[in-house]
Amino acid sequence: MAQKRTEVRFKQYTLNNLDEIFQLQELTAEQRFELEVVAQVFPFKTNQFVVDELIDWSNIPADPIYQLTFPQRGMLHDDEFNRLADAMRGGNGTSKQLQQIVNEIRYSLNPHPAGQMDMNVPELDGEKIEGVQHKYDETALFFPQAGQTCHAYCTFCFRWAQFVGIDELRFSAPSMDRFVRYLKAHPEITDVLITGGDPMVMNSKMIRKVIEPLLDPALEHLRNIRIGTKSLAYWPHKYVDDPDAEEVLDALSRVVKAGKHLAVMAHFNHPRELEPPIVAEAAKRLQVIGAVLRTQSPVIRHINDDPGLWEEMWRRQVQLGMIPYYMFVERDTGARDYFAVPLARAYEIYREAIRNVSGLARTARGPSMSATPGKVEIQGIAEVGNEKFFVLRLIQARNSEWVQRPFFARYDPDATWLNQLSPAFGESEQFFHSQLRKGELEGISGVTRM
Ligand code: SF4
Repeated sequence: MAQKRTEVRFKQYTLNNLDEIFQLQELTAEQRFELEVVAQVFPFKTNQFVVDELIDWSNIPADPIYQLTFPQRGMLHDDEFNRLADAMRGGNGTSKQLQQIVNEIRYSLNPHPAGQMDMNVPELDGEKIEGVQHKYDETALFFPQAGQTCHAYCTFCFRWAQFVGIDELRFSAPSMDRFVRYLKAHPEITDVLITGGDPMVMNSKMIRKVIEPLLDPALEHLRNIRIGTKSLAYWPHKYVDDPDAEEVLDALSRVVKAGKHLAVMAHFNHPRELEPPIVAEAAKRLQVIGAVLRTQSPVIRHINDDPGLWEEMWRRQVQLGMIPYYMFVERDTGARDYFAVPLARAYEIYREAIRNVSGLARTARGPSMSATPGKVEIQGIAEVGNEKFFVLRLIQARNSEWVQRPFFARYDPDATWLNQLSPAFGESEQFFHSQLRKGELEGISGVTRM
């Protein structure tokens, strides 16, 4: 008989119990204050596993996992930081005024990029469906209400706005009913991505409540259920010795038992996150129930902007039976001035890393920007005559006719996002721009779905 393991409990840290992170006592008072200032704007939460197992405390503040989970001074511009710091030091009035400064800064940081709030939300019976996005024909995203937080928050996260407590920036579904009705009316949807936050913060009972309605025989056209999660990196105990671990695995296994594909879209940002032996154990347990693990991450300055790290990460993932899936570009939101890597550099990192790994790891696509028209991949940098160009293509698009169509932009070594690229060969705009405008005006072409 298998021996019962000792259960472990999840312990989190926020600004309220920072003192319990003993290693933080090494910080100077000024460093500690900076952390507290920046954490007024960006969400901050970490946990004992990250603090004890992943961060190299002999190397802070440069340590990549420290950069990944602890707010950094450089995430705010000097003027923003100084305004906030003055207000916090008491030089600038009440907590209401402080909150006003915080909100002003938050709203200036493009909290919902790529039209997430206004362009991707579908309608049912003439009303928008809360907590659902449908951007690409075959895939719908579902944001369960109970999954809109994470085991720890990533400093670079493009969904940071969901975690900061401003009501109108929250995005989540209170129940499954309307989503299931929408799915029934849309046989073109083959994939549902359950996402967050991190849906794997949910306990087994909640996971079951989300998954079981999707297994309804009337949803036969739904073939793949994907779960976007960072839990394998931030809380692998979830699948091993958390008090609820067996029930969680059982809830997930129902997808496979119902004849559907269970895809765990695992977020790993740095090879160190794959080192603890419990990560391999958690991955194995998911694979035993039939899940396929695919991996993704953006390229992030201060964290993983080095081809050697990507090589190492992809090699280790393949060794653990995971499939490298996406290298993303850091999105145009939040503290992106601190984290963004120029597109040209991101492409070089991808190219250098991918050419050094075996074919099994060359499944990773990218670098890809999740932009308004779709997922734009940088395929290469080409030289024609004496001029350089970015060669681009949409690997996913609002209009499926745009998929795989190559297009070109003038080379710009500093550009960090699609909207900073000028079309090449004398064009005034890219081929999808006029259709996007038309879609916005008429409410068609996959921009607002009915
Ligand atoms: S775990 Fe994912 S959703 Fe949560 S903060 Fe990190 S990147 Fe964002």
